[in-house]
Amino acid sequence: MKKDIDWKNVGFSYLQTDKRYVSNYKDGAWDEGELTSDSNVVLNECACVLQYCQECFEGLKAYTTKDGKIVTFRPELNAARMMDSAERLYMPQFPKERFIDALDQLVKANVDYVPPYGSGATLYIRPYMFGSNPVIGVKPATEFQFRMFCTPVGPYYKGGINPLSICVSDFDRAAPHGTGNVKAGLNYAMSLYAVMDAHNRGFDENMYLDAATRTKVEESGGANFIFVTKDDKVITPKSDSILPSVTRRSIMHVAKEYLGLEVEEREVYLDEVKDFAECGMCGTAAVISPIGKIDDHGKEILFPSGMDHMGPVIQKLYDTLTGIQMGEIKSPEGWIHVIE
Ligand SMILES: *Cc1c(COP(=O)(O)O)cnc(C)c1O
Repeated sequence: MKKDIDWKNVGFSYLQTDKRYVSNYKDGAWDEGELTSDSNVVLNECACVLQYCQECFEGLKAYTTKDGKIVTFRPELNAARMMDSAERLYMPQFPKERFIDALDQLVKANVDYVPPYGSGATLYIRPYMFGSNPVIGVKPATEFQFRMFCTPVGPYYKGGINPLSICVSDFDRAAPHGTGNVKAGLNYAMSLYAVMDAHNRGFDENMYLDAATRTKVEESGGANFIFVTKDDKVITPKSDSILPSVTRRSIMHVAKEYLGLEVEEREVYLDEVKDFAECGMCGTAAVISPIGKIDDHGKEILFPSGMDHMGPVIQKLYDTLTGIQMGEIKSPEGWIHVIE
């Protein structure tokens, strides 16, 4: 039986569910893994993750489709990205098949928390991994824990799909040749001051620039940018220090193959942003959040789509992507993983 939750009004916050998946790595191997009811992680005071932040994570969602199936969206891309993150942070990789198996077990065990079709809510799934044994001299851990939990969520931004106002940040998110392209908690730790600073000045998010020249658009704290030109071309910034968003890669495919639009992944200069017709931030949590206004040190960039609604192209991308995820529109081969 579904939990007694006011699905239409769930926010983006943690609600404890019944089960989570845990697997431990020791002596060079992952154990079998299991579901547990224990939501607490107990660690030694000197655990590597607590001292040196050896941690990476993922984020994906489970949806109830129109015909009542429970599905996840391209989960093997999350599994693969987590393997890349683990490698960069000198952690053992959690195999792709095991990731998918853990996901299936987790969602099945918490099926009563999967929001119903049409509610606007989804089940957010958070896989993560960290160095768990004590380490005081700086070196990688030798023992690790992989966990996956889930929580029902509503829209990431309170306005739902109302356009956001963001600002160009004076802080950098990622350095060239750093860790900006992997999904690690450490990239977020150093963005917290910057995002609170933006909030305190009345903005929803930051637009980060490339650290080397501060002339090119990178991404926001947790979402990639897409832009639409006045002649309906969809453009997304190319950089080695932004996170390869599954949502963004999917949107670019949808733009080209479903909507017949021209798409381009290339360097985007801050100077040219004022000439675009629409702008959005995309990620699993944000889906596509439209941006109405960008503040560049007091100079405002106002998109023609305004502050009241999404621009027409972003709206079409949003409708097509969410339609695919909810089973209303036929998906490309292999994008939808049904939890049996
Ligand atoms: C997770 C994340 C994104 C969005 O990626 P998705 O795969 O679409 O969820 C974008 N930027 C950063 C920094 C992220 O951590």
